[in-house]
Amino acid sequence: MLNSSTGENIISFIKENYGIDVIDVKPLEGYANLNFRIKDDKGNSYVYKSHQHADDKLLFESETTVLHQLTKQFPNEFPKPIQALNGDYIIQHENEDDNTTNRILSWLEGDLLKDIKHSQQLFESFGEFLAKLDKELLEMNKPVFAARYMEWDIQHFLDLRAKSNFITDPSLRKLVDYYFVQYKEFVLPELPHLRKSIIHNDANDRNVLVQNGKVSGLIDFGDMVYAPLIQELAVALAYSMFEKDDPLKWAAYIISGYQEILPLEEKELELLYYLIAARLCMSVILSSEGIQNNPENEYLLISQKPAWDLLNKWIAISPDMAEKKFKEAAGIDILKKIDIQLDLNKRHQFVSKSLSVSYIKPIKMKRAAFQYMFDADGNTFLDAYNNIPHVGHQHPKVVEAGQKQMAMLNTNTRYIYDQLAAYAEKLLAKFPALLSKVFFVNSGSAASDLAIRLAQTHTGKQNIMVMEYGYHGHTRLGVDISHYKFSGRGGSGQKEYIFKATIPDTYRGEFKDAEAGIKYANQLSKLLNQNNDPVATFISEPIVGCGGQVPLAPGYLKEVYPLIRKQGGVCISDEVQTGFGRIGTHFWGFEAHGVIPDIIVLGKPMGNGHPIGAVVTTNEIAESFDNGMEFFSSFGGNPVSCEIGMAVLDVIEEENLQQNALETGEYFMTLLRDFQKEFPVIGDVRGSGLFIGVEFIKDPETLEPNTELAQFLKNKFRENFILVSTDATYDNVIKMKPPLCFNKSNAELVTIKFSDLLKIC
Ligand code: PMP
Repeated sequence: MLNSSTGENIISFIKENYGIDVIDVKPLEGYANLNFRIKDDKGNSYVYKSHQHADDKLLFESETTVLHQLTKQFPNEFPKPIQALNGDYIIQHENEDDNTTNRILSWLEGDLLKDIKHSQQLFESFGEFLAKLDKELLEMNKPVFAARYMEWDIQHFLDLRAKSNFITDPSLRKLVDYYFVQYKEFVLPELPHLRKSIIHNDANDRNVLVQNGKVSGLIDFGDMVYAPLIQELAVALAYSMFEKDDPLKWAAYIISGYQEILPLEEKELELLYYLIAARLCMSVILSSEGIQNNPENEYLLISQKPAWDLLNKWIAISPDMAEKKFKEAAGIDILKKIDIQLDLNKRHQFVSKSLSVSYIKPIKMKRAAFQYMFDADGNTFLDAYNNIPHVGHQHPKVVEAGQKQMAMLNTNTRYIYDQLAAYAEKLLAKFPALLSKVFFVNSGSAASDLAIRLAQTHTGKQNIMVMEYGYHGHTRLGVDISHYKFSGRGGSGQKEYIFKATIPDTYRGEFKDAEAGIKYANQLSKLLNQNNDPVATFISEPIVGCGGQVPLAPGYLKEVYPLIRKQGGVCISDEVQTGFGRIGTHFWGFEAHGVIPDIIVLGKPMGNGHPIGAVVTTNEIAESFDNGMEFFSSFGGNPVSCEIGMAVLDVIEEENLQQNALETGEYFMTLLRDFQKEFPVIGDVRGSGLFIGVEFIKDPETLEPNTELAQFLKNKFRENFILVSTDATYDNVIKMKPPLCFNKSNAELVTIKFSDLLKIC
């Protein structure tokens, strides 16, 4: 009847078809259909529903059958279909100007769950209510619902994959894409093993009614599907956890209520975390689609914000922790705590102890998502330390790039395939034009080793000038050029072909003024002149990482590079730590010094955890290296690595991560410098972008290093579920170099924790 659903139309339609004298008509909100509350002259209330299509007759009839069966058992809990004068429950019109399906259902009293203060008792009753409903539904005849396909059905989550593009903000879209990947890996293979049932499929807080502090009714059965039973809870929990500080606690109340009536299976509880995530993702995807197609429909926007808020919280919750809490709530035995000593023993049985472990209490890691890592006990750690997962742990774009290529072809560089040249081109586009050749390897160590060989072959010289406290890799040559190693514990000292430049440190070093860069460069010049034997190369990081995040004094490299070149050498910048936008101001560390190196060493962040390294150089140097000896690295530049490398570059750009490093890094350092004033033990806060060092001292006059305090803090941070590390000659600098998706509230949390910990020292 109602393409023009005016009150008068409704009144006459209802009188005509149902014989009911309507005295009041009020529109109700609805997602896909028109709903009205109507009152008759006898004081009865009904819901009048008009669907704007007249197909799916079978479906409406099946819904009516379900409601009849339910209301036979529970007369006041569910809407009862009202019979029309002609004996039907559904009145369909199928003509040009009226193509609708119309029904009347009994009105259920009660407040909507969304409008009521939530309590443990209320949520437990919600669980019990749903379980009672599901117990009935489990017994019901399924054919029509089994044949039904709905987007709003979690088991079809992956079908929405292409629609994530409706989410315009890439830093939000990545959350949804992350869950697509996780769902595919961890849920999809398990779906066939779950028990299935007809489910209501939309127990959100706008459909749940409450009376006297308990859930008393449920409306809107229009989304019923035949699906894994646990999806019922997944939907209910997803919406119930909106705007909760501790979502798992509230979820547990509902689960415990449910379990009393209809016991859940372990497998169901194991997948619940991901099913909830999937439902939240569906909600934000479909509302984003709806908003694009229909910008003025406010209802679509309503559930979007809390769904995003919850997704942002959900991503920081370990699936294992959720499973643990869900199982606890259901009274199911949970796995015992990890015995880390057993794991350590096993590691040491087979692996050398020279492979060290972080923290006094080591961590057994199991999963990660963006800036969060999850241990085997389900604890969440905020990762303020790991720079290898540059664009975020398990970033879906990177994971999928690798998975897809791995399923297609992975081979060595002696065959031609598109990825090698494509990645080389994309990577080199990030460098000044002069740097036009790249060699791919699999680690920073392999890259620095190769870089030195390139320099030596090109110049015909052997000597190498290295940076004090520098680190470049674990190969024999890598150790030779790493003062951090050859002069550190177990090191065998400086080789005769190595010269060491004094670190141009304006905090702890000899020169601290504006001319410090030039003065340190003069020192290096003297060192060069003392030797009649010129150096092939000078290698340094732009900010010396292992030395304690020490930025080279401004102006230093600008002076040094010409000196090196003048005596016939070439200059290498090790960008393993500082490259790919981390320092915020520039994409590469050398750019901040206004120089162009001849050779660049790349590694760690390049593959976001996948082992790739590279050496970038000039055509001239690459030509010299082509001297007859073949260069071949079995795995360097393979198609999988190249796809991953390209994905990393894409994400940096799409998510504007260099800019985020700049803004978050500056904010972080401002916060740290502010509280530095309160704590004289903090000697220096330094760095650039999200490459930050905080140096601890005992005395501001002597700058005596406070190694104990830095160690204490690092371990305390770990106990407080924040990952940082220490480094520098005296191991007195806390290093922070988080994934570039680290945000301002993450920075605030670390700063607050810093200050709390320093107060107890
Ligand atoms: N160069 C620098 C500056 C590094 O920090 C590292 C690793 N810490 C390397 C090279 C060696 O890289 P990898 O461990 O991947 O071999």
